Amino acid sequence: PPYTTIGAVTGANKGIGLAIVRQLALQYPKSPLSTTSSKSTSPPSFLIYLLSRDASRGQSAVTALQQDPQLTSSDVLSTTEIRHHPLDISSSASIAAFANHVKNEHPEGLDFLINNAGIALDGFSSDLVAETLKSNYYGTLECVKEFLPLMKTKKKDSDSPSHPRIVNVSSMVGMLNKYSPALKSRFQDAKSVNEVSALMDEFLAAVKAEEEGGRKLEETGWPRTAYGVSKAGVTGMTKVIGKEQERDGSGVLINSCCPGYVNTDMTKGRGAKTPDEGAQIPVQLAIHDIGGVSGEFWRFGEVAEW
Ligand code: NDP
Repeated sequence: PPYTTIGAVTGANKGIGLAIVRQLALQYPKSPLSTTSSKSTSPPSFLIYLLSRDASRGQSAVTALQQDPQLTSSDVLSTTEIRHHPLDISSSASIAAFANHVKNEHPEGLDFLINNAGIALDGFSSDLVAETLKSNYYGTLECVKEFLPLMKTKKKDSDSPSHPRIVNVSSMVGMLNKYSPALKSRFQDAKSVNEVSALMDEFLAAVKAEEEGGRKLEETGWPRTAYGVSKAGVTGMTKVIGKEQERDGSGVLINSCCPGYVNTDMTKGRGAKTPDEGAQIPVQLAIHDIGGVSGEFWRFGEVAEW
């Protein structure tokens, strides 16, 4: 195969996603993935798919990175190719189209996928909850399901230095401290993705019931945050799928993380960290040695309480 390492990042045209692509390019030469096999004589080559729902925003982001002073001066672009491909995580057709592209162009599979795309909408209503869950939870889940079978397989006797990875960008806002004890245990004890999805659907039903004059959300044990619940779902399904992959022996490591409070359009300039700082943990989980850990939620460079 022409590339030693192939990875993809969703929602990568701006914010943390764009910084993730930049940091991947900069850090790859120091990662275990760039260790060339003993049989290979050519230098390691790296292909990163910068995925974006809007083709022109995605293409402009690629152009900006190709002119980025740090990338050009460190010469990483001579062995790393950054390529745009469309991907809208709220569209099954769009997810399937990129999956087909990967199957056709890269039958050897992906080394990593970083599910970074996400939305945080202003206001609170059942329509906004439905829209948020559709992208942040169901869209991310669909990407995981569609691309898991397209990850490289780690063979026992292979000299490949690393496990394939899936990284889901969740949030500390998805932690379980604001839920009723009953809901908290259902999140933590979920044994299947269906149980996590059922919790998402129940939240939407509770918000609809309140709108129709039923019980107040506070009495049902749910926090009043579409974004927070969608991210609790992301952390929860990551944990369940991580355990399933371990049982199946697929070798794929799947983890979720909080990038920290980052200054991007989403936080309207209020975040404390720069996008490059926010990119550190997703990049660590995608290409550096994480000791085979899977199914965990990470913060501040280490496994954290959920
Ligand atoms: P931005 O709003 O700056 O960027 C979000 C990115 O996701 C954009 O590229 C956007 O594309 C893309 N996106 C949104 N919806 C879709 C979709 N349906 N399909 C494909 N791409 C989509 O946010 P951040 O960079 O701050 O956030 C990145 C991730 O980090 C998100 O998952 C967010 O929840 C998470 N996060 C952020 C924190 C922060 O402090 N900033 C804290 C914790 C978590 P477009 O330009 O087309 O809108």
